[in-house]
Amino acid sequence: MRPLTEQEIRAAFVNRTKGEAKRLAVPRDLADQPWDDLDYLGWRDPRAPDLAYLVTELDGRPTAVALRRPSPTPGQRRRSMCSICLTTHSGGVPLMVAPRAGKAGQQGSSVGTYLCDDLSCSLYVRGRKDAGMGARLPESLTQEEKIQRTVANLAAFLAKVTT
Ligand SMILES: [Zn+2]
Repeated sequence: MRPLTEQEIRAAFVNRTKGEAKRLAVPRDLADQPWDDLDYLGWRDPRAPDLAYLVTELDGRPTAVALRRPSPTPGQRRRSMCSICLTTHSGGVPLMVAPRAGKAGQQGSSVGTYLCDDLSCSLYVRGRKDAGMGARLPESLTQEEKIQRTVANLAAFLAKVTT
């Protein structure tokens, strides 16, 4: 994806108010992010580790969402798969929950997805980060096709958040 500025990211949040989007933590090292290898930029809130954010481009428009990771209950941390990039993590994949945009979200409606805990789906798909033995199923898809699938999965999730 193309590099985004802090201003673009703050303006892109669909499930935060303008005031909240102005105050939330955006990475300071935006210039150092591997944008060429990212389908989305994801980060955690350093002040609230259960909060995470991600920004991507949908039809050329920056779109960002805030996510919450409910505290894992014991026994939940078993091997499981990210719904976005389909990487399996032996330590488990948290269910991340995004309040829906607009009125629905204000009324408590939210959408969940299993998402790599480190928000590094793009790097797993490109083989730039290794999740260990058996993390990626052998597939006949090319890397480009896997990237397209990741982008499509993310777009489908964001569509549920925004509509
Ligand atoms: Zn993932």
